[in-house]
Formats: sequence, C-alpha cells, structure tokens
Amino acid sequence: MVKMRLRCLKFFAIHFCFLANYPLLHSQGCCSGGSGSPIAGNASQGVLAQHQMELASSLQYIYSDKFLTGNGESSPLFQSFSSKYLYNRVAYGITKDLTISLEGGYYLNKTQTELNAAGKIQSSGFGDMIIFPRYDILNRKRLDKHDELTIGLGYKIPLGKYNDSHVVFTNPTTGRQYFTISPPLVQPTNGSQDVLFYLFYMHSGWPKNIRFFANSMYIKKGWNALGEKFGDFTAVNVFVSRTFMHSLGITLQCNAEWVQKMRYNENVDVLALYNVDVNSTGSKKISLIPQFSYSYKTCTIYGLAEVPLYQKVQGTQIGIQQQFTMGLSYRFFTKKDLKCDDAGNDFTYMCPMKCKGGGSNSPGICSVCGMQLDKVK
Ligand SMILES: [Zn+2]
Repeated sequence: MVKMRLRCLKFFAIHFCFLANYPLLHSQGCCSGGSGSPIAGNASQGVLAQHQMELASSLQYIYSDKFLTGNGESSPLFQSFSSKYLYNRVAYGITKDLTISLEGGYYLNKTQTELNAAGKIQSSGFGDMIIFPRYDILNRKRLDKHDELTIGLGYKIPLGKYNDSHVVFTNPTTGRQYFTISPPLVQPTNGSQDVLFYLFYMHSGWPKNIRFFANSMYIKKGWNALGEKFGDFTAVNVFVSRTFMHSLGITLQCNAEWVQKMRYNENVDVLALYNVDVNSTGSKKISLIPQFSYSYKTCTIYGLAEVPLYQKVQGTQIGIQQQFTMGLSYRFFTKKDLKCDDAGNDFTYMCPMKCKGGGSNSPGICSVCGMQLDKVK
C-alpha cells in the first residue's frame, strides 16, 4: 500500500482541488460499454449449436450534455461527454448446451469537453475482457412452441487503464506540466475484476411469428487498486421481436437498470488524489430500445438506439441522452459435416442461421431467430 501511494505521488505531481466531485456517467456500471447488452440482430444470448461459432462486432456511440440531479435537470458541470466503443465477441458452442464466449472492447475515444472551451480530457484504449460461459438448463420444443432458459456466469478482467492522467496546468515560465488523474468517466475501464450473473429466457410460437425474450444481469463489482468499488449493476430486459419479409427483424426492447452507489476506501486514497464524489453515484433508469436487423445467409447487421423514459440519479450526474449502436455478426460451423443444428434431428426445413432448435418438418419461421426456414431436402 505504501509503495502504491509513493508511485501515485510521483506520478500526479500536484493535486488541484477544483477538480473534485467528478460525476459518473449513468451507465458506467455496465461492462459492455453502456447500458443493456445488445441482443439485436438475432444474436441471441442463449446458446449456439455444437461446433457453431459466432463472430460479432459492434460500434457504440454515446453523447450527452444533459445533467441530472435527484430533482430533475441540473446546470452543467462540463460541456459534454462522448464515447465511441468497439466491442467484439467470439462465441463457440462446446456442446449442444454449453456456449462460451470471449468478449472485449476498445475505446476509440472517450472525451469530456470542459466548460468555457477550457479543453478536453480524453482517453482511448482497451476496456475490459469478459469470459462468459452460458448453459441451457431448458430447451424444449413442442409443436410450434419453443422455450429456452439459459444461465450464465461471467468474469470480467480489466485490460485498460483506470488511472490515466491529463495535464491540468503548464507553467508559462518553466514550461513544466502538472498532471492529475482523469475522472472515471473517461477511463477505459474501472480497473476491477467483476463477476456477472446472467439469466436468459426465450419463448416463441405463441402468438404466431412473435418471439419474446427476457434477460437479467447482475454484476458484482470488485475493488480496484485505487480503493474504489463501483456500484453493483442490475439490469432486466424484455424484448418483443418479429421478422418481416423473411430476413428483416424488428425488436422492441425495454430496459430497466439500477446502479448502486460507489464505495471508496479512504485508507488507500489518503491524499484524496482520485477526486470521486461518491454521493454523485448510483442511479436508476428505464429506457426503450428499438432495434432493426437484416440477415443475409448467416450474416446479420443491426442497429439500435436507446430512448430514455425515466432517469433518476443520486447527487449530480450526466444523464443518457444519445446512444446508438451498429453491429455485425457472422455464424459458421467449425466442422464441415455439421449441417444440422438439432443434434441429430433430421428436419426437412432448417434455419439459414443454423439456430439450435430452429428446425421443423413444416415450412415456417425459425423459432429461435425468426428467419424463414429453408427446405433442405
Ligand atoms: Zn434461426
């Protein structure tokens, strides 16, 4: 501990009090770079078929200049915040019930623009990596009705920096620069190892051509080396989805999320170098997320936007204002002879995406992803 303090002293030559009380962005709690992990583009977060692989990438853009307090809107603490986050996922079906994915993000840019055009605090770089196995505890198909229940347990490893600094003062005579640590809002990661608990449910077949999903995620945040523990994150999502013209998907997602207050170990940060106002952490939010997707063979592109309906924060924090995501996913089998998705079931009609449990002996749509089934024999 003493060692760390000394290192910090050297690194942050001077501490400026006026930088205290950094607000956190509402959705800081989520490790996938924003609120709600996108399930759009038929990238179902259930499990894949055995030996099936999925590669997915998405680009998320966030912008906000809206500040909130417990009572409503607040005057701005800085001009605006924006970020561009590239998120990649590789998922593989180890068995017919167990899928493991490796996911990670890279911030192309995270920027806080100060008031009165005093400058910008920026960072870029790797965010977090997540190892995320998921297991089907139920996958039942009877006639046209299909139900799937999946549990997941994830582990988040911080790859990026969480103690990045920026210049706060340049002495005009000597040219010497003074640094301080950047606010958590612009750090690529929060630096803690976290555990994710995940539950996913899908129902399709009734009413016809409509699919329902629900998922729930709880992230138990760990402490980082700066003596910070970001608030635990809970999210519940419900989705209604329908496919039009064989491959065009429209999904409406409703997201509710709750971020607990941050905790802070005063024994680590005795010199108060990190400037986080824990009273301005913790939030609740409900939003509506329309999503569009288009699939061609086993490739899907999708886009989604988040429309906040309700936001309530503790203290003063920057709220969610504009949040867009565009993504791409591609599925294939790592073994050539595996054309069938249903573990040996020989169906006449198969899903072009080769979804697990999507096959049927009559024409119709895939009960997992909603695409029109292809006749295979
Ligand atoms: Zn399918």
